[in-house]
This record gives sequence, structure tokens and C-alpha cells, in this order.
Amino acid sequence: MIITIILLIIIAITAYYFLSNKYKTKQDIAISDTVYKPLLAQHIPFYQNLDRQSRLLFEQKVVAFLAGITIEGIGTIVEDADRVMIASSAVIPIFGFKDWRYGNLTNVILYPDTFDGEFQFEGENRNILGMVGTGYMNGQMILSRAALIKGFSRAAGKENTAIHEFVHLLDKSDGATDGVPENLLAHDYVMPWLKMIHQEIHKIEAGKSDINPYAITNEAEFFAVVAEYFFQKPDELKHKHPELYAMLSTIFMQDRAKDNVV
Ligand SMILES: [Zn+2]
Repeated sequence: MIITIILLIIIAITAYYFLSNKYKTKQDIAISDTVYKPLLAQHIPFYQNLDRQSRLLFEQKVVAFLAGITIEGIGTIVEDADRVMIASSAVIPIFGFKDWRYGNLTNVILYPDTFDGEFQFEGENRNILGMVGTGYMNGQMILSRAALIKGFSRAAGKENTAIHEFVHLLDKSDGATDGVPENLLAHDYVMPWLKMIHQEIHKIEAGKSDINPYAITNEAEFFAVVAEYFFQKPDELKHKHPELYAMLSTIFMQDRAKDNVV
């Protein structure tokens, strides 16, 4: 009975979003460059570290992303700064690729804070910060607004929930969220990458690694967690885990460590 009610609520919410998005105009999601440029400069360290030409490219990718995606708040208002942070989280992992579109994403749903597995954001067991939808939720990403903002704050450290979720989407683009992005990684690299993952998981389990222990959940979580580290603290990752850094640099076609930034 309870499951039926929950299912009905989920179906109703999904139907509402599909219908409401259908009648949305581009103005709802577009932000002018006078708005987003200062916000990028203010909130996005990755953008701050780019040279002028790369900033321009980043801005174009942000605009292109926002033009094709609907961002909605449930129980929270979506502000321009939130849109810029979501778009940046999408652009950062694909910034090294010439052309990339998130073909498997149509909507980002923002919740005020953590939510549970049934997408309720109040009550007990609120511990999920972000997720990429599967099945009937395909094409949807849910993010905690608090986690989104924290990921771009000074307190973020090696963690950035929104980047983590977009890396899952990249991973998923070959059909399987398995920690091996087949369409980004040449076949010869797959076995060394898996070996590297399992070696580092052993180190984390033995308490001999500074990587977030959530990475040991499975290969997909490992990939998303170390990708956060790669984009948040490239110098530290390169220093402490040179092999991991080199592999991620190959996968994302980016070399963010300071000694390499042109
Ligand atoms: Zn994850």
C-alpha cells in the first residue's frame, strides 16, 4: 500500500515536470553574459584559473549547456548562481573534449538539502547529495543545493558533488556506469585502469590513502570520487597519486596541475 502511494506520488511529480517543461520558453533558462560572467568569476575556481581564451571557451560551453537543459527547484528557488554552478560542473569534466553533449540529460532537479532514496527531502535518513536517474528517471539528475554550493566553496576540499554526478553521466554514456568510460579510454588502457582502481581500493581499505573512502563502494564510485579530487585539487593528486593523475589526465584530456597550466 505504502509502495503504491509512493509510486503514485513519483509518477505525479514526473508527469508534472514533463508537462511543465514542455511549455517553458528559452527565457526561463537563458542568462545573459552580463549575469553569468561575474558569477563564473566569483564562484568557479576552475574558471578563475583559466587564461583569457580558455575562459571564453568555458563561457560558450556554459551557455550551450544551459540552453539545452531545464533546471528546476523543488522546495527551493533556483538562482542564477546555482545555474552557473550546475553548468560549470557539467563543463569542467568535458572541457578537454572538442565537442561533447550530455545526450543522456534533459533535467536537473535541485533539492534544498540532502534527500533520501525516495526523493523526499524532509524526514529521516536524508543522506543522498546527488544522483543520476535510471529507468523512469532516465535523463534526470537530482542535486542537493547545499552540496552544490559547498562544492564550489572554500570548504570543499577534494569534494564536489555536482562534478561527481556529471562524471557518472560521462561514465554512463557508453551504456554502463561501471567506472570505465569506454568511449573516452582507449581499449589498451582499460585493464591498467581497472588494476589501478583495485590497488588503490586496497590502500583505502587498509587506511593508507587520503582518497574519500566512499570510493571503495564500486568502480563507478571510485572513478567519480577520484575525478572530483582531480578537478578540485589537481596539484595534490599529482603529487600524492602520480599514476592516477596521469590516467585521469588521459581520460579527461586535461592537465590541470599548476606546473602544466599554460
Ligand atoms: Zn556516485
